Amino acid sequence: MRDPRHDILFTPVQVGPLTVKNRFWQVPHCSGMGYRYPNAEARMRGIKAEGGWGVISTQEAEIHPTSDISPANEARLWSVEDVPALRAMTDAVHEHGALAAIQLVHNGLHSANRYSRMIPLGPSPAVYDGNDPVQARAMDKSDIADMRRWYREAALRARDAGFDIVYVYAGHDMSVLQHFLSRRHNHRSDEYGGTFENRLRLFREVIGDVRDAIGDRCALAVRLAVDELLGPEGITCEGEGHDIIAALAEVPDIWDVNLSGWPNDSQTSRFAPEGFQEPYIGFVKSVTTKPVVGVGRYTSPDSMVRVIRQGIMDFIGAARPSIADPFLPVKIAEGRLQDIRECIGCNICTSGDNTSVPMRCTQNPTVGEEWRRGWHPERIAPLESPTQVLVVGGGPAGLEAARALAARGAEVTLAEAGGEWGGRVSRESRLPGLATWGRVRDWRLLQLQDRPNVQMYLHSPMGADEVLAMGLPHVVLATGARWRADGVGRWHRLPPGDLGKVLTPDDLMSGASLPEGPVVIFDDDCYYMGGLMAEIAIKAGAEVTLVTPDSMVGSFTQNTLEQGRIQTRLLEMGVRIVTAHRLEGRKGNVLEVACTYTGRIMRLDCATLISVTARLPEQDLWQALKARRADWVDAGLRSVTRIGDCLAPGTIAAANYAGHLYAQDFGSVSATIPFRREDVAQLFTM
Ligand code: ADP
Ligand code: SF4
Repeated sequence: MRDPRHDILFTPVQVGPLTVKNRFWQVPHCSGMGYRYPNAEARMRGIKAEGGWGVISTQEAEIHPTSDISPANEARLWSVEDVPALRAMTDAVHEHGALAAIQLVHNGLHSANRYSRMIPLGPSPAVYDGNDPVQARAMDKSDIADMRRWYREAALRARDAGFDIVYVYAGHDMSVLQHFLSRRHNHRSDEYGGTFENRLRLFREVIGDVRDAIGDRCALAVRLAVDELLGPEGITCEGEGHDIIAALAEVPDIWDVNLSGWPNDSQTSRFAPEGFQEPYIGFVKSVTTKPVVGVGRYTSPDSMVRVIRQGIMDFIGAARPSIADPFLPVKIAEGRLQDIRECIGCNICTSGDNTSVPMRCTQNPTVGEEWRRGWHPERIAPLESPTQVLVVGGGPAGLEAARALAARGAEVTLAEAGGEWGGRVSRESRLPGLATWGRVRDWRLLQLQDRPNVQMYLHSPMGADEVLAMGLPHVVLATGARWRADGVGRWHRLPPGDLGKVLTPDDLMSGASLPEGPVVIFDDDCYYMGGLMAEIAIKAGAEVTLVTPDSMVGSFTQNTLEQGRIQTRLLEMGVRIVTAHRLEGRKGNVLEVACTYTGRIMRLDCATLISVTARLPEQDLWQALKARRADWVDAGLRSVTRIGDCLAPGTIAAANYAGHLYAQDFGSVSATIPFRREDVAQLFTM
């Protein structure tokens, strides 16, 4: 039964000509599926509609080939040929009674047009905002007329594709309309530049054009970045962000407001708590009578009720919470709060889109696999013949394998050597800023705890004798990995010489204290761990140098939108950063590192070296069981399978996925290509 305090989340709200059935609004978010994988895109969005969201939006939909952000895989609405792919999505959304929204975009100087090879367009001559040697040309009056026509025509195509809500978008610094609004980008001296009213002109005109095109069948949404976190150089919520809303207050049917650019809008839990946008967007409802939607990684229904009651917004906008749990609204509606798979705010999802592949999620292993593998976040097929499985290791891989196998009806025994569940998730969630990551463990434990077909044992280190003595037919090894201490990683494929005593992240996570004196961290992992070790060391009072062969700290975190914040934090804490250097050797308390280009040596004072390079799979049990292969039949043992970090160390998302995959595939014969492909199914015309 639903908690009556949450009833307000299920009251319908009028948006222009439409009624949205509840307050749950999946705002536009990229998925990495886009125009190249339209079946995958449609199925993923349809499942969210099934999960109770009132509105389901596309990702940004490019309206013209001069707005081509290849190789990113967003939605496309360049011409009528793009309509059927989007129609598949609107049909999937409508099937479950939700409304479908599309975010039209012309990317302006944000698109390098790598595929179309057309010249990018902007308000003024400007370099493309990535590092391609490409410049946008300034639009003249006929370009402006074209732009308005492209928006109008795209809006008509959107209507024909079955969309109920059409967005005009000026956010994330990714839209020509924001580029015209911005003093930073718009240096024009005609009636489209200079004064506030002039810079607003194109935005106002396009909103009017789109409204004329869609008529009264569709609602018109305007998405605006009310603050760019750039101070006076950018749009601010006290300055022009406020003024834009005030100038156009009653024009759209709904305001969708957020922060720009994307790393500000989708901040990770390491840097921002739930509701972090409220101080910026809180003013909007005082300036307009139209409904407002915003985001802030809300997963708690109590917080959602609060922001509505406090008049901050009318709809709970969500991208990441809807990825981690597509059924979040249904679970609140049914009072099943313990079943909510809360987003942990890690941005592995954005890393999929940023590397132009279907998104993945640390919490929800089914995302991106809905169409190609037929996975569903809430349903899993029962086993044809129930069986018994021993899972060894209670980290993310073991917990998810146990959970999903149990959901399929297997009799599951889960054995963990240590005194707590969660493996690396528990250890890493105690690192600075990562407490929320514990949700990966907590959700699985809650799902496991009341299952009669699951036995769970802590303090149970398993050797080959113990495994064979249990006499269970199937064994899953999820025994994890440990950080290596020899410096081997991406740069050093062989040990780089005598490094003396080296600490690893495992040592620090196990509570090892740092000896007195300067600390050097050698980070060749290129993700979050090196930076976190530096934070810990500097908080312990050490003088800290972080050395990396890379050109920046944690370069993979560019994909999780955190790199800038991580490097800024370390610099502000006083960490010295040495890039493009590898290990050379160590003599006492002097560490020699060498420039990766010139080989020139630099000497660093180093009482403690912390190596963050790579991990080694924990395979002792695997080796022991292999050595006892001859005993398997007598013990009734039929299969032993390694999953997660003990097979190949990777992300927590990958471990969780491995656990889920094992359970999904259990009892089936694996195909050469284990999923459906849609890119080869298209017709070729020569
Ligand atoms: P993954 O990310 O693959 O789930 P983790 O390192 O998070 O891996 O978790 C592995 C877990 O397996 C750890 O909690 C560890 O204590 C446990 N483990 C390792 N070897 C054994 C063993 N022989 N018996 C029981 N548990 C084990
Ligand atoms: Fe949330 Fe991480 Fe999943 Fe993204 S990948 S939805 S941030 S849990």
